[in-house]
Amino acid sequence: MSVPPIQVAIAPVTPLQQNCTIVWCTKTMNGAIIDPGGEVDRLLAGLEKYGVTLEKILITHAHMDHAGAAAEIAERTGVPIEGPHPDDQFWIDRIESSGKQYGIPEARSFTPDRWLHDGDKVTLGDTEFEVVHCPGHTPGHVVFFHREARFAQVGDVLFKGSIGRTDFPHGNYNDLIEAISTKLWPLGEDVSFVPGHGPMSTFGYERKTNPFVSDLALESNQPGPAADLAERFS
Ligand SMILES: [Zn+2]
Ligand SMILES: [Zn+2]
Repeated sequence: MSVPPIQVAIAPVTPLQQNCTIVWCTKTMNGAIIDPGGEVDRLLAGLEKYGVTLEKILITHAHMDHAGAAAEIAERTGVPIEGPHPDDQFWIDRIESSGKQYGIPEARSFTPDRWLHDGDKVTLGDTEFEVVHCPGHTPGHVVFFHREARFAQVGDVLFKGSIGRTDFPHGNYNDLIEAISTKLWPLGEDVSFVPGHGPMSTFGYERKTNPFVSDLALESNQPGPAADLAERFS
């Protein structure tokens, strides 16, 4: 049996139970932390537990539950921060104030070492991820896609049975639906994804069942029950 090119461990962090992941290249054991919202000591202990050498920090979007601990990890380990897309700068500027508002007072702002754009490649050890810009939840939101492993980390673009909130400043419902249907669906129904919150799913399962973006929902062109999502900060 061949060894998969990457492995992933999910570590929900912060009171918002954001799905931070540690992902690594199985050949080199070089890893990335995607979306470190908080709980730095626990994440660093996770690297040690799996024998992973941290190479970089990756950010899907600049909400504080996803990015609030990037600065501290970069400072403590010396690794670079890649992402999000530059259109999320205004969210980076708000990390500290929104952290206080949502019970993550230690959340800190940061400066990415590399901004990401649609079609960019992010290397990790001997392997690489493709960057897909998916605006709508935030304008600078990116998704990390590993083609060979059929894996994506989608942040708050898509959830099992739901989609990201679009009622924040610069959020846009139509942009989000378009990004999901024209940029994520073509990657393949067999792609498994880690969403920003809640359980994993596959693009194929969501195309069948998701009330917002199933093939049926998109055909009938009815906006889904978006108000349901207003309960939490995702
Ligand atoms: Zn979130
Ligand atoms: Zn978010």
